[in-house]
Amino acid sequence: MDDLQFGSRNKRGDWAPAQKLEAAPFAALPSPARLGRWLMGYFWPWNLFFFTLTVVWWTGFLPDMATMAALSPGWIVGLLTANIIGILGFFGAFELRYYVKRVQGRRFKYNGKFPAEHASDVFWFKRQDIDNFLRCLLIGIPIGTAVEVLLLWLMASGRVATLSWAEHPFAITAAVLAVPLIQELHFYVIHRAMHHWAPLYRWVHSLHHNSVNPSPWSSLSMHPMELLPYFGVASWALLLPSHPIVVVMFFTVAGFGAIVGHIGFDRLETGSDRATPSHAYAHYLHHKYFDVNYCDNGVLPLDVWFGSWHDGTAEGERLMQEQFQKKRERMNTA
Ligand SMILES: [Zn+2]
Ligand SMILES: [Zn+2]
Repeated sequence: MDDLQFGSRNKRGDWAPAQKLEAAPFAALPSPARLGRWLMGYFWPWNLFFFTLTVVWWTGFLPDMATMAALSPGWIVGLLTANIIGILGFFGAFELRYYVKRVQGRRFKYNGKFPAEHASDVFWFKRQDIDNFLRCLLIGIPIGTAVEVLLLWLMASGRVATLSWAEHPFAITAAVLAVPLIQELHFYVIHRAMHHWAPLYRWVHSLHHNSVNPSPWSSLSMHPMELLPYFGVASWALLLPSHPIVVVMFFTVAGFGAIVGHIGFDRLETGSDRATPSHAYAHYLHHKYFDVNYCDNGVLPLDVWFGSWHDGTAEGERLMQEQFQKKRERMNTA
């Protein structure tokens, strides 16, 4: 496909889409058409896939409640193994296709370079791909699974009250469907806090930002102190009309779903004249500029409300520079 029909490439080889990013519509009263687009985007394609994956995990890889009522190694290791194989297989499929085999070359690629093309001392073995893969495998998925196991055990052992599926199917389904909204709010707050307090950024969040040019393995490459509150989003399940499947949905969206902003390509070609949008650009701009687009899946316009939105256009660039200038003035005054 000719990606220059959809955007432009600069001298460094970085490609940018021509169409500006559209924020979630609730900054003002949305038109029915805009609301319809938002609703469609809420499900298609990512969240529908994550809902399906949650059902697959719940029916295929989770033991019954009586087994989960005790913290025994058997089911915990089984779940960890399923999560590792599932997430590494999912991230790895994208990494293999777009970063190793490079089936669509640099077409629609935001950053003109591939991470493997430059070594850096900030990464283990000086390689971003190896560093990010190992962090994902050894730290990211185990910490996420530990949070998931703890919450499942609290519910299965009766320490936290849960609803029964037979009596409350609609309330539980509504809680599952609300997970992307809660994830968005939760992530925005912890993410903004990590950028706001310099020591938190320096000691914790900067590790994720070492990957200025993110790839799928970067998705869960975070400091353990970031991974805990990141996967801790699942503890919201304790406050909802809840059921352990809601915990699994939180894990799916935070674990598998972390890839969305880190794909690095704007569109994924599915044929010689067809390509699917990846929804990765807002978070790519966050990796590029640091102080914009703190949101995760973009289902709420939090960045618009709190003045950190960059829509990828020259106007977005101007607003960002204006914010930087104000920040510099505040710091100089302080
Ligand atoms: Zn990121
Ligand atoms: Zn950040």
